[in-house]
Amino acid sequence: MSETSSHPLTPLGGEFRAPGREAAFQAERLPDTLRHVRVLFLLSSVLNALFLLSDWRFYGDPHFYVAIPARVGVVAVSILCVWLVRWATTFQHAQRLMLLWELATAIGVAFLVSSHSNLALFVVLLLPSIYYLVVPTSFRWTVTAGVTCSILLLGGYLLPEKANPTETGLILAMVTLNLALILVVTRSNRLQRTEWAATQAAREAKDALVESRAMFETMFKTVPIPLIVSRADGTLVTTNDAAIRYFGIEPETLGIRSAAEVYENPDDRAIFLDKLAQDGRVTGFETTIRLADGTLRAVLVAGDMVEIRGEHFVMSAVVDITERKAAEERVWRAASHDSLTGLPNRGLFQSRLEQALAEAERNGTHVSILLVDLDNLKTVNDTMGHDAGDALLKETANRLKVMMRECDTVARLGGDEFVIVVIEPILLANAMSLAEQVLSELRFPFRHGDEVLSGLASIGVAGFPEHDRKPTELLKDADLALYAAKAQGRNRAVAYTPDMRHRIEQRATVSREIQEAVRLGEIIPYYQPKVDLVSGKVTGFEALARWQHPEQGFLTPASFLTAFEDPELSITVGEHMIRQVAGDIRRWLDRGIDCGRVAVNLSTAQFNWIGLAKRFIDILQEAGVPNERLEVEITETVFLGRSSTHVVTALKQFHDSGIRIALDDFGTGYASLIHLKQFPVDDIKIDQSFVTDLETDSENAAIVQAVIELGLSLGMNVIAEGVETEEQAEFLRSRGCAQAQGNLYAEPMPMEEVQHFLDRQRARCA
Ligand code: C2E
Ligand code: MG
Ligand code: MG
Repeated sequence: MSETSSHPLTPLGGEFRAPGREAAFQAERLPDTLRHVRVLFLLSSVLNALFLLSDWRFYGDPHFYVAIPARVGVVAVSILCVWLVRWATTFQHAQRLMLLWELATAIGVAFLVSSHSNLALFVVLLLPSIYYLVVPTSFRWTVTAGVTCSILLLGGYLLPEKANPTETGLILAMVTLNLALILVVTRSNRLQRTEWAATQAAREAKDALVESRAMFETMFKTVPIPLIVSRADGTLVTTNDAAIRYFGIEPETLGIRSAAEVYENPDDRAIFLDKLAQDGRVTGFETTIRLADGTLRAVLVAGDMVEIRGEHFVMSAVVDITERKAAEERVWRAASHDSLTGLPNRGLFQSRLEQALAEAERNGTHVSILLVDLDNLKTVNDTMGHDAGDALLKETANRLKVMMRECDTVARLGGDEFVIVVIEPILLANAMSLAEQVLSELRFPFRHGDEVLSGLASIGVAGFPEHDRKPTELLKDADLALYAAKAQGRNRAVAYTPDMRHRIEQRATVSREIQEAVRLGEIIPYYQPKVDLVSGKVTGFEALARWQHPEQGFLTPASFLTAFEDPELSITVGEHMIRQVAGDIRRWLDRGIDCGRVAVNLSTAQFNWIGLAKRFIDILQEAGVPNERLEVEITETVFLGRSSTHVVTALKQFHDSGIRIALDDFGTGYASLIHLKQFPVDDIKIDQSFVTDLETDSENAAIVQAVIELGLSLGMNVIAEGVETEEQAEFLRSRGCAQAQGNLYAEPMPMEEVQHFLDRQRARCA
């Protein structure tokens, strides 16, 4: 009904106001209309033919000649219309034929009723009624045809006779009939159209329903996300195409297979259903499923519970997040792992350590950390190339990983530093034996190309609850223990003790002070002469560092040993010394003072720097000092340190450039005679501990004599240190020792006193 109200009808006529709608109505009824009019025309043809026979009764009457042609005319037009109607394809065509038939029939019958036969009056009233009620033309033409027919018939009936007493009554009856029929037609039209509109609306609604259902079905089927509808017990009810493709479900198995089968962990479906029952909807349930080909995929499942005809169904959508998870994993790995070894990096190590410490505190268990530093990485890098260095790092990482359990963490902190976090109730003592195992495992040689490599490491060990609880502090403890392991000669494991921290802190303070002293020029060289034992002439000087401390006064190296032992500080102080020594030599030469050869001391730590010799040579050149004016004093320990390969190169560079090399403190270290042969040593300096009590200690006398003989036989110059008495000098001279150095001749002196000393010495020798 709402459709007719949206398509209103004309009040008079009952047709659709909208011409388009009316045309649609007529068009839809056209087959029916055509069938109807064909029957109408046929009936008209047959009935009028029968009436033609009945009209024969007028034979002999003048009306006969009016009636027969009129009747023949009607029959002829009716037959013509029957014939023409087959070509009618529109309502308009049909209507034109109906009007033609109506006009012809009305005219013919108008002649016929002039006979005033018994039937005439009946026909006058019948025919317009037929036009109104039987001929389905539009309302406009129905009224036109009805009224025209009425006028023609009234005319035919009334005109031949004058002053018929029933004339007015007949006209009024005809008008009444027309009006009544107009109302009947209007009502009939209205009913027909209302009914049609209602059917039409119902059909449209049904069509729309069918269409929307088809659309939803297509959408469901073609949504690119796998959708599954299952019963609460898990049986699959339906799936869309994406689900069939994704899961590899055979459509025939729907109704047999269970949704639970796809879950890698069957309990996951139960958890999913629990959540669904709790919240009515699950938006992102992460799980792993197994596809038909057996591959495992990470997915997010969203689910909704739907009720259809009293039964509950689970509607689930599946989004594959395998690639996304893999990408996330890659990003996470890149951010938290070391790219070379694949081990966790410092960031991840810190969070694991935090976690391990928190757990240990909760459970009353232990955590140990082993800070592993590869002693020989730098050497491997410098001598065999970075490829070999990388191989050593990777091998170290692998061995550590293999040694440790899944629950432990092996991380690379950067450079040559690795760390192991051992969780479990292991005591510090056990951690130390683990560290020893690590050392021997790393030491085991392996091949890299043509080279054979092995890892030498120092390990610092610290643990909770023995040491600190805070991760940063515990790592610092391990770092201090590592520092101690290195200081004790590397290639060992040392456990942290609280006094290490104190010592290190002291050392750090001293280190800061020394740097400041260098900056302020408080560290200067003092010079101690070396004298020819035979001629008494000065052959050269040894430069010895002195610190003019603003508060503690004049300090000798014993008070600031860190300056020579610390890897970085020793380079700074060493460079500071050689610059001053080179400057002093230049000044002496400029003043015409022959200072001989000046020796500077080099500590083992300085040899860690591969560019040491080159820098010294450059500094001499900058200062304009010939290389022959310099000598370097090294102690035997340089041959034993981890930078011994640098030592070979550096000594060769010194030697080749004309700088002499003296082996200092000879006899106190661990140098083997091999070193004397292998390295380009020019002078041997007998340590003062052997010289001090030479006169009384026969063992020392024997050692000194042996060293002098060794030096002579190897063609080396032997210098005795710490000569304090004339007796000592005499002993040395008599045994063939060439030179001596000691307080007997002069204590170390500042640069300004050297000229005066030389003058006095020359005067004495003259
Ligand atoms: P060293 O190279 O063996 O120097 C000789 C040390 O013996 C000097 O001590 C010197 O003052 C001392 N000495 C010389 N003659 C006598 C004597 O007759 N009696 C006694 N009792 N001592 C004598 P100093 O200057 O305290 O130096 C100690 C050590 O410090 C040096 O031993 C050297 O190894 C190191 N050193 C000094 N200056 C430097 C430097 O600039 N660089 C480096 N790397 N080490 C240095
Ligand atoms: Mg020396
Ligand atoms: Mg010495």
